[in-house]
Amino acid sequence: MKLSYIYHSGFLVEADGALIIIDYWKDGGESVADLVAETDAQVYVLASHAHADHFNPETLFWKSRRPIRYVFSADIRRRNKPLRDDGRIAWLHRGEVFSDGGLVVEAHGSTDVGVSWLIGADGRRLFHAGDFNDWQHSEATEEDNKRMHSYFEAELRKMSAAVSGADVALFPADPHLGSHIADGPAAFCQEARPKVFVPMHCWEDYGAAGAVARAVEELGVRFVPCRGLRRMEV
Ligand SMILES: [Zn+2]
Repeated sequence: MKLSYIYHSGFLVEADGALIIIDYWKDGGESVADLVAETDAQVYVLASHAHADHFNPETLFWKSRRPIRYVFSADIRRRNKPLRDDGRIAWLHRGEVFSDGGLVVEAHGSTDVGVSWLIGADGRRLFHAGDFNDWQHSEATEEDNKRMHSYFEAELRKMSAAVSGADVALFPADPHLGSHIADGPAAFCQEARPKVFVPMHCWEDYGAAGAVARAVEELGVRFVPCRGLRRMEV
């Protein structure tokens, strides 16, 4: 399995005979639409929830040599009523599984809209958090932040056994969280012990993830920056 960063929370995974695109918002460098048009691999497009920085309806108009399979969180259907679905889209709620040949996609919980993903291919397991995080906002009340923290811990416990020991975890390192940027990543690594941690949802402030790097490395988890990540062997 080879992992490349696209932009924001968008990643591209090359597995045996499959090209998997997760949470595409926009291109970072090369055109993903062109890649999709040119590949001989079976293309899968996953979107964890309807927020515009995770779901781009343009992906439904991408052309491919083979019919593209879409795996979307069910909230996207609720929020985008006019979406044309001619059976190409698998709609997943948390707890549901999509399986097709060598690819298995499990939908797990989130602390925002939609789901997180555990993707199995090539004998490897990759976790993509979507908007799952301990969202501690400085402008929120202490009460709200406490409630968010309990919600996060509860969701983390629920998914823990399933996602534990994943080969890679793609997880938010959001600069808007200021001094709390590493809270969610550290708690996730403590509980789920991924082999490699890759930050995402950085809003182009890649330097802010330095605090996250220190926190996860202290827990013995390897940190790999997302920026410039290209075809990393997983
Ligand atoms: Zn987001």
